[in-house]
Amino acid sequence: MIGMNQQNMNGINKYILLKNIIINEPISRIELSHLTGLSKMTVTGLIKEYMDAGIVQECGMADSTGGRRRTYLQVAPESLLTLGIHVGRDNLNVGIINLKGQIIQSESMELSAMENNDIFLKGLFLLCDRLMQTRYREKVWGIGISCAGPLLVKDGVILNPPDFNNIRNLPIVSCLEERYDLPAYLQNDICVAALAEVYFGNRNQYDDFIYVGISAGIGGGVIMNGKLYTGFSGLAGIMGHTIVEKDGILCECGQRGCLEMYSSTRAVVKWARENGAGKDLTWMELLVRASSGDEVCMKAVERMTGYLEVAFANMANAYDTQCFIIGGDLHIYQEKIVKRLEEKLRSKSFSWGQERNIHVESSSFIGSASFIGTVALVLENNSEV
Ligand SMILES: [Zn+2]
Repeated sequence: MIGMNQQNMNGINKYILLKNIIINEPISRIELSHLTGLSKMTVTGLIKEYMDAGIVQECGMADSTGGRRRTYLQVAPESLLTLGIHVGRDNLNVGIINLKGQIIQSESMELSAMENNDIFLKGLFLLCDRLMQTRYREKVWGIGISCAGPLLVKDGVILNPPDFNNIRNLPIVSCLEERYDLPAYLQNDICVAALAEVYFGNRNQYDDFIYVGISAGIGGGVIMNGKLYTGFSGLAGIMGHTIVEKDGILCECGQRGCLEMYSSTRAVVKWARENGAGKDLTWMELLVRASSGDEVCMKAVERMTGYLEVAFANMANAYDTQCFIIGGDLHIYQEKIVKRLEEKLRSKSFSWGQERNIHVESSSFIGSASFIGTVALVLENNSEV
């Protein structure tokens, strides 16, 4: 029993070291000891194990204070590879991704309106087989899957996401584990994007932040102390269904007045169409017209931002977060909306006289966070590290 606990502790300690090396490399053993609170001796011992396994390597660098050269550590990016899978509404991406979040090889296919569990799995296996027949196979140590909710994360099941054709109750984790004999992990795509920001984004100065994806739906991924916080039933940060209008528009979740009914791209387009912007208006057209002064389209963006302000203020107060990172489909309005939300949050949120400089920033990635974040998902879960 003692032996087992010891092994578990080592597993956790080693994982914390690897995570800190990936995020902060190049980094010295002493810095790792300061960052993790582990003794220098423990760090040295565990690093030796990683080096023997070829996962971590030394790189000499001049000391910044101008003294002698010090030995720093970095990961060997190709030593552990992830088979990353991102299931989007309209397409499927599969790739071999290294420890630095770089996609080595990838395949994708469109998901058709005909999709059901069987057709989907056939397509998924076809793409995965192609990648797993390459020379990278032997270094693949886990499978990370990101998918729009609702999911049953702990059972590895995709339930029945809206607009997902006929994909229902699909036990994607067990299907993949069986076929490839590797551990697989499933998580909501927005949470995976949040993990991508922790490991590979240039925002890692924040230990506490909420990643918000604004597109046809709205999702939030909560990071606390550098780790994903998913709550009691996996629904923490489900921002699209926070209520911004009492007795408001009925949402498909059963509540009234959800943020998604006011600030998702779909809801904004719907409102603009109903208010005279033309029945064929698309989201991109709406943005372009708003930026060139079209009154209805400007109002639509204004209305959207107003509701986002309410939801952001509520989330800021509920989680006492340092920063919001925004990804999704805001395109040409991205920077404008980011700036506006930051201004409003700083002027409005509850602070009881304290300085509370909440930041709002754009995602470090364009579109790929939910895909490359699958590497972080495997790292956070695979205890073999
Ligand atoms: Zn709802």
